[in-house]
Amino acid sequence: MIKTDALIIGAGPTGLFTAHQLKLIGLNCEIVDNLDKIGGQCIELYPDKPIYDIPAIPECTGEELTNNLLEQLKPFNIKFHLGERVDELKKDNEKWNVKTSKGTVFETPNVIIAGGVGSFEPRKFSPKECEQFENKTILYSIKNKKIFDGKTVSIFGGGDSALDWALELSKTSKVNLIHRRDEFRAIQATVDKVKELSNDGKINLITNSQLKTVSGNGKLEEIEIENDNKETKKLKTDFALGFFGLIMQLGPIANWGLNLNKKTVEVDTEKFETNQKGIYAVGDICNYPGKLKLILSGFHEGALAARACFKLARPNEKYRFEFTTSSKTIQNRLGVKSD
Ligand SMILES: Cc1cc2nc3c(=O)[nH]c(=O)nc-3n(C[C@H](O)[C@H](O)[C@H](O)COP(=O)(O)OP(=O)(O)OC[C@H]3O[C@@H](n4cnc5c(N)ncnc54)[C@H](O)[C@@H]3O)c2cc1C
Repeated sequence: MIKTDALIIGAGPTGLFTAHQLKLIGLNCEIVDNLDKIGGQCIELYPDKPIYDIPAIPECTGEELTNNLLEQLKPFNIKFHLGERVDELKKDNEKWNVKTSKGTVFETPNVIIAGGVGSFEPRKFSPKECEQFENKTILYSIKNKKIFDGKTVSIFGGGDSALDWALELSKTSKVNLIHRRDEFRAIQATVDKVKELSNDGKINLITNSQLKTVSGNGKLEEIEIENDNKETKKLKTDFALGFFGLIMQLGPIANWGLNLNKKTVEVDTEKFETNQKGIYAVGDICNYPGKLKLILSGFHEGALAARACFKLARPNEKYRFEFTTSSKTIQNRLGVKSD
């Protein structure tokens, strides 16, 4: 069990800046995110797009903003738990007991939900039979491409991820690339390369077809696909990979007894606390009169929620407001060298 002063759910811009604020005032925190990377919507949805309304930064991309936030966090050595979804949140005496999808357990007086529009989840294959092979031989992301060496891999999808992986894996595996349409959404150079390898017989390209069912004993052995004319075809395969993009789901947050308003969590505007003591919501996920779903609002909300955490984390101490420019305590925490 990991004990911490505050647990942050979500490593988007709000979660990152909230961690900074907690550490500045001397509180410990750890961050959990369902994605395997840091940055939330900025990294997942628009890494290359310029943002023009971050105070004092005239222009920066989603990726640059994330990198800058991480740079600002560098003195603090924050522990991230990526690829883990927070599933359970239960009150245990005065503390919150928090459990993730990977079984990590935290005990903390403060939970800050910076969950944006909910957790990003891969869009999955529709046949029910796929579930038994999920995370083993049916995958929606690739962590170690070596597992496909010398195997037959059936890749589904028509965007950049599907085509890029088809090209990459065709170097070491037998690849079937299956797409439900005739046209692809990937960049033209990639589409051209895929068609070239298909003509050379190095990729088995099948269009206007979808997955109908899968079968296997313990591990995936065969897939059955169906084309637009309802004709079916069976293919032997070791792996099936689905690249259909991500969906955003409020997910488990909806089950934690919080006051919800559509797909957001209601908070007060003093502490950004929810209807449950010690649980705060900041950033896109929170709701109050006048809420603006902007990154700058998340920064303000995180700063206030962090100060509210102090009371429960250090019940015998008094929080003192200090400026970073003049506080030696804060500067020591940041590792600033004094002359
Ligand atoms: C195309 C586009 C352009 C935009 N342009 C601008 C702009 O110019 N200026 C601006 O200010 N804003 C812009 N925004 C909005 C901005 O990106 C959001 O306001 C911001 O990302 C919200 O940050 P957040 O940290 O609150 O949430 P998010 O960035 O959504 O991050 C939330 C994180 O929480 C994780 N999470 C959720 N639930 C769980 C769970 N149960 N367990 C573990 N992890 C979980 C998610 O996986 C996600 O990574 C834009 C948004 C889009 C889509």
